[in-house]
Amino acid sequence: MREVYLDWAATAPPDPLFLDIMHETATRYYGNPSSVHRAGTDAAAVMEEARMRLARGLGCLPETLFFTSGATESNNMTIQALVKRALVLKKDFSAYTVITSAIEHASLWEPAQMLKKLGFGVKTVRPDAGGIIQPGALARLMDKQTAVVMIMGVNNETGAVQPVKELVRGVRDFSAASGKNILFHCDLVQALGKLPLSLRDLDVDSASISAHKIGGLKGTGALYLKTPANLDFLSVGGGQEKGVRPGTENTAAIAAFAALAEKQQPLIRPHLEQSREKMDMLISEIGTIPAALIFPECRTAAADAHYSPYILSLAFPPLPGEVAVRILNDHNIYVSAGSACHSHKKERTRVVESMGVPKALAECMIRVSIGPATTSEDIAAFLQAARKHVAARSRIGGPRSLNKPQHTTGPRHSAGPRRHTG
Ligand code: PLP
Repeated sequence: MREVYLDWAATAPPDPLFLDIMHETATRYYGNPSSVHRAGTDAAAVMEEARMRLARGLGCLPETLFFTSGATESNNMTIQALVKRALVLKKDFSAYTVITSAIEHASLWEPAQMLKKLGFGVKTVRPDAGGIIQPGALARLMDKQTAVVMIMGVNNETGAVQPVKELVRGVRDFSAASGKNILFHCDLVQALGKLPLSLRDLDVDSASISAHKIGGLKGTGALYLKTPANLDFLSVGGGQEKGVRPGTENTAAIAAFAALAEKQQPLIRPHLEQSREKMDMLISEIGTIPAALIFPECRTAAADAHYSPYILSLAFPPLPGEVAVRILNDHNIYVSAGSACHSHKKERTRVVESMGVPKALAECMIRVSIGPATTSEDIAAFLQAARKHVAARSRIGGPRSLNKPQHTTGPRHSAGPRRHTG
């Protein structure tokens, strides 16, 4: 039975270009980019070329991009920089407040909760029922203590596209009026390579991106810093990446990351169109399955600019998301349980619950995420299995079993979703 991969938001299958470039760079430019001999300077040149290519596509200056081990590290770095600032200035942690949103990825949400435990002020802005953070809701939370606002670009569970430009404008207006320099950090992982993106245009102060979501190597990413001097980072070592992120750079993965981003740049719009068609098909067909629900319920047409046409959250209540994922897995269809997974059980349903979805329903959520290589046949295979095997089970479950754990009849695959991915 052929495999149908519909979990692109967790990771994209490797692009053959990435494998070719990785191989060539790793073998030809094997030197340590910090070494002063030619093997080192050649490797450094490859990396600087990569930085330039990546920056060109992102609409920023090369010197504002710093390579990291991925978006989790980039997000953590920005939060930890605040701890360092407070320590260096010997300020009381409570003098700083971070505003983050209830829909952030765990790699930002968890470090923000850590700040709270350390004594920082941490406020959470909730999305509306459609999963969108409204500028007015953010404006109501800002005050004199606000140091940083952290709101993502595209939500990895619902696909909700956030009005980042408007949110940043609100922060700038408040900063101007209060005489404070509030920074805006944005997790752009699910936007890179998927939606037209210009860092200059968005005007964020910092942003995180990741290579494996666009077909590159896992463990590779970048942190954008509009004004690098604004933040001082905790890690120290050999001074690589101008001291922002010490540690020998993964030259080959970085070269492949930049080449992939560059290759995908002119394809963003055509791919978007193709994905909209597939997402339209998926959304309208799901609408004909009585047992199925889409999150948020207001999402009806894929052409709606408020949602990425690459991500869809749905549910077959009362079937728990994990069970639905396992049933589909038994039919070689790979999706993820949007709710199955952060570091704490309580966290699993945080995103959709913050939109007002009841917990019992949120636990039924699954995420289908597509990519440029997803075919109409893949969507049709998913729909067929969803109708025949998942929706049928969901009806058998009945509403009384809304909170009861359910089990598949087939063997329990280790590939089953134990934690949230991506
Ligand atoms: N932010 C978002 C929105 C994501 O979807 C992911 C994916 O896992 C991450 C951050 C973490 O990225 P990485 O796997 O590069 O650490």
